[in-house]
Amino acid sequence: MDLFEKCYKYTRAEEAMAQGYYPYFKAIQSGAGSTVIIDGKKFIMIGSNNYLGLTQDPRIKQAAIEALERFGSSCTGSRFLNGTLSLHEELEEKLANFVHKEAALVFSTGFQTNQGTISTIVGKDDLIFSDRANHASIIEGCRLSFGKIVKYKHNDMDELEKQLKNRNNDSGGKLIVSDGVFSMEGDIVNLPRLLELAKKYDARVMIDDAHSCGVLGKNGRGTGEHFDLENDIDLIMGTFSKSFASLGGFIAGEKKVINYIKHNARALIFSASMPPSAVATVSKALDILKSEPERLRQLWKNAHKMKKAFDEMGFDTGNSQTPIIPIIIGDDMKTFAFWKLLYEYGIFTNPVISPAVEPGRSMLRTSYMATHTDEELDHVLETFHKLGKQLGFIQ
Ligand code: PMP
Repeated sequence: MDLFEKCYKYTRAEEAMAQGYYPYFKAIQSGAGSTVIIDGKKFIMIGSNNYLGLTQDPRIKQAAIEALERFGSSCTGSRFLNGTLSLHEELEEKLANFVHKEAALVFSTGFQTNQGTISTIVGKDDLIFSDRANHASIIEGCRLSFGKIVKYKHNDMDELEKQLKNRNNDSGGKLIVSDGVFSMEGDIVNLPRLLELAKKYDARVMIDDAHSCGVLGKNGRGTGEHFDLENDIDLIMGTFSKSFASLGGFIAGEKKVINYIKHNARALIFSASMPPSAVATVSKALDILKSEPERLRQLWKNAHKMKKAFDEMGFDTGNSQTPIIPIIIGDDMKTFAFWKLLYEYGIFTNPVISPAVEPGRSMLRTSYMATHTDEELDHVLETFHKLGKQLGFIQ
């Protein structure tokens, strides 16, 4: 049997392309903003993670340019050897202060942060309790660790307790890991209950704040700040590819724990460090988040406006509580049909099907930015209303 047999037989993407239903790898010809250009045509972008709308901010660009000019284009090596700049260390200190933890460590992507952290701290006899809807990078981290993985039903704290109880006599350490804001449905983890259970069953807690940093909490510090429970989370993880308009990720917690990860995580030690321009971008984004709280307010104003309007029209927006608002359709082909029509009308959304979501919960993932104008949002709503009716999704 030829190893490549599966590749030669793989025709699903080509078939979808031939039918005009292929929504992935769309080449964008402009920068990431509230509108983008694809195939020479303008689209309203409601399929990004650019929550604070900072990717096109002149101050962010200037910070990247200055770092590029001062430090060059790359570090050409890992943090462990030749790839640590003073810039990385300054950013780590800033991040630790931001999330109120003793220390922070930056990785080159958010994906690597989860993969590297979980596989490092969870050993052979340890247990991981992981929400079924957690991000793929958490799943990868769990798989790479030598620990036992126990999955629990999405955000179901009764089931988590049952699982913790079942394993209460196991001798290894326990980690409960969950997204803070779930990336597809935009709902928020039941953190108060999760922390209660962690205390009761002696487990450590790691929260992935990829979609919460710069979004949740009065100062945008994430899920912990939202619930006023920052101190009780052992490890806070965040990415820079969303609100912070860059690329990379961080893990923050106790100094001793971060130091252990720093000296043992293969995703950190054997991969080149964040380039200077990316580090400077994140640092500037943190400054802007602090000095311009109105951005956060505007993001939420936009999110509330959209959720309210979609609900009033009769769309199923699931349990969304954040600027991520799913339009749940259920059927894969109907989801693609809606995506295609919206695309033809100049609206960019992300169709999401199983396994990224549970079977039967196919959806269009929409998400909003502080920099969307009312005019853009009204146009999105009018188009959803018209096409949703035309396709029979709403009355
Ligand atoms: N965690 C979550 C919840 C995410 O949504 C993502 C990105 N989609 C990641 C981690 C990985 O982050 P990055 O894309 O910055 O590598």
